[in-house]
Amino acid sequence: MTARRAETATASTLCLRVEDWNGHLPGQHVDVRLTAPDGYQAARSYSLAAPAAGGVDGVLEITVQRLPDGEVSAFLTDDLVVGDRLELRGPLGNWFVWQQDDPAPVLLVAGGAGLVPLMSMIRARDRAHIPTPFRLIHSVRTPDDRIYADELERLAAQPGGPSVTWLYTRTAPQTDKRRPGRLRPNDLNDGSNWTLDAAPTCFVCGPTGFVEEASNHLLAAGHHANRIRTERFGGR
Ligand SMILES: Cc1cc2nc3c(=O)[nH]c(=O)nc-3n(C[C@H](O)[C@H](O)[C@H](O)COP(=O)(O)OP(=O)(O)OC[C@H]3O[C@@H](n4cnc5c(N)ncnc54)[C@H](O)[C@@H]3O)c2cc1C
Repeated sequence: MTARRAETATASTLCLRVEDWNGHLPGQHVDVRLTAPDGYQAARSYSLAAPAAGGVDGVLEITVQRLPDGEVSAFLTDDLVVGDRLELRGPLGNWFVWQQDDPAPVLLVAGGAGLVPLMSMIRARDRAHIPTPFRLIHSVRTPDDRIYADELERLAAQPGGPSVTWLYTRTAPQTDKRRPGRLRPNDLNDGSNWTLDAAPTCFVCGPTGFVEEASNHLLAAGHHANRIRTERFGGR
C-alpha cells in the first residue's frame, strides 16, 4: 500500500501499487487475500474505485467501508499501514462493467459502499470526456456517510457533468425535502423522463437487500431486466 485516504469516519481509500498491471474496466473488482502468521487466510472482494493507466507499476485504488464486526474490512481500514503488502487477484468481473463506447444513458443506483464501482465509471467518463448522460442516486444513512462527496459535487456542477442525488435513510440535511427512509419507488422514478424513456443501462450496487429492492423498483417502473446489472456486496 502506498497511501491511505479517509473518505468518511468509517471508510478509507487504499492506494495499491501493483507491478505489471494491464489495466481494468470501470466496474471490475479484485480479490484481496490476507494470511495471518499462523497460516489462517481470509479473502474478500473489493471494487476498483478509479480507472488505472495500466502498464508497469499501476496504482490501483480500493475504498473499504469498515463493518463494526467485519474481519477483513476492519483490518484493512484500521491496521494496514503504508508499505504493507497485500495479495491481490484480478481484475475480475466482466458483466458489471461500463463500456465507454456504449452510447446508452447510464443510471447508477448505489447503497453505501456500493458507490465504489460506480465511481470508477463516473471517473472514467470524466477523464475520457465522454458526453454519455449519467445519473447517480446514492443512498446513505447520513450526510457524513457520503463517500467522494466533494468530488461528486464538483463533477455535478460542471457543464455536462453527472446528475447526482443523495437519499438519506436516517438523518437528512434540513434543506432536504425528502423524508429520511429506505429507497422508495418514487426515488428512482422522479419524473425526469430520460431515466425510463431513453432505455438507460442501470447499474445497481450495494448490500444484498438494497440491490434486490432497487432492482424490483426499477422493474416495476418499466425498465427492462436485460438493461439492469447488479452487484451484491453481501449482508442484508
Ligand atoms: C464483487 C464485490 C465487490 C465488493 N466491493 C466492495 C468495496 O468496494 N468496498 C467495500 O467496502 N466492500 C466491498 N465488498 C464487500 C466485501 O467483499 C466484504 O464482504 C466486506 O468488506 C465485509 O467483509 P468483512 O470481512 O469485514 O466482514 P465479515 O467478517 O465477512 O462479516 C461481518 C458481518 O457483516 C455482515 N456483512 C458482510 N458483508 C456485508 C455488507 N456488504 N454489508 C453489510 N453487512 C455485511 C456479515 O453478514 C457479518 O454479520 C464487495 C463484495 C463483492 C462481492
